[in-house]
Amino acid sequence: MTDHRPLTRNQALVLETLTACEEPLSAYAILDRLRGEGFRAPLQVYRALDKLLQTGLVHRLDSLKAFVACAHPHEHGGEATVAFAICENCARVWEFSDSTIEDRFEAWAKAENFLTRATTIEISGLCAACREAGAPGEPGQPGERGA
Ligand SMILES: [Zn+2]
Ligand SMILES: [Zn+2]
Repeated sequence: MTDHRPLTRNQALVLETLTACEEPLSAYAILDRLRGEGFRAPLQVYRALDKLLQTGLVHRLDSLKAFVACAHPHEHGGEATVAFAICENCARVWEFSDSTIEDRFEAWAKAENFLTRATTIEISGLCAACREAGAPGEPGQPGERGA
């Protein structure tokens, strides 16, 4: 599924914007950053994002309606299981994959005869740095926020 055609100028600009930013960005935030580059309409951003999502260079975080550059674009295409831990305090995102989790989902899908197109796991909480800094939300009790 991986498409190795070179990126268009717009696709490359959107990817650069996301790569330079540690936080996930909405399509409108991307547009704002690229107005100086000739971007005028959200559609231009969405078109570029479509291609970047397909190739796995960018991921969409549904819970935030935002996009992040893939942390390791050469390890998976657009179809792999990807997990994100999202800090609610500083908005940083950590991407990781775990073959055990992937195997469990695959086994479930096989048992249910479910055709999986994409699997994205989103974990929200507090990152180590924010916890150390005593961010608001550091709980006395474990939260009920499982993704
Ligand atoms: Zn990725
Ligand atoms: Zn944090």
